[in-house]
Amino acid sequence: MKPTANQIDIIEGAWFSCTFFIRKRQDYFRYSHPIPFLLSEGKIIVITAPSGSGKTTLVKRLLNACPKLGFSVSACTRQPRPGEADGKDYYFYSEDRFKTLVDENAFVEWEMVYTGKYYGTLKSELQRIWKAGRVPLVDIDVKGALAIQDAYPDASLTIFIQAPSLEVLRQRLEQRGTETVHSLEERISKAGFELSFATQFDRILINDNLETAATELLDTVQSFIEVDHMA
Ligand code: 5GP
Repeated sequence: MKPTANQIDIIEGAWFSCTFFIRKRQDYFRYSHPIPFLLSEGKIIVITAPSGSGKTTLVKRLLNACPKLGFSVSACTRQPRPGEADGKDYYFYSEDRFKTLVDENAFVEWEMVYTGKYYGTLKSELQRIWKAGRVPLVDIDVKGALAIQDAYPDASLTIFIQAPSLEVLRQRLEQRGTETVHSLEERISKAGFELSFATQFDRILINDNLETAATELLDTVQSFIEVDHMA
């Protein structure tokens, strides 16, 4: 017996609802965050600092001293600086590629850190490090760090590295010699703004002496990694 047009409508409607529901479930599993039973999530160390605070040096020393950590390579749309390598310092993406990844919900957090320059932490990067049995070390700006703190309140340790003063910060940036007059001023002004968020972090570390700051950072990170935060 052939179904009537009405019956076909009903079957098609039911089929559509069913596939819609399945698609929504897939989106939920793919995109919702966090998904503890699909991602083997662990702890995360988040380090932030106004640029010129000596963060990069401290992060390098920390990574050498603590093999349990894995550096989370961010995606960004700025040009590589001399000596920087794609996939090691950053994934250097075009703006189009970056925006496609945003649409695909591939980032834990992302933002326009400087005018026209996007930066973001890839979910795939955190998973890669967790899968290797290590703890991701995420080196990002203040807003990104607070977004990760929100997403992983129990599993994250957030550390704010502070230069002794904005004047010292300016001198360090000038010595580094990588900025134009405009980008230097933009970084200084952003640094002043970021300082006002310092108290929202789990730890504030003042980098007036590199050796002391490096030791303090290593101790803080190791104690966090060793403690069973779920206990
Ligand atoms: P730079 O251009 O000097 O490498 O980095 C500029 C700023 O972007 C730094 O404060 C750095 O921490 C921040 N940054 C790097 N990666 C990320 C990221 O994935 N997300 C966010 N929100 N900031 C990032």
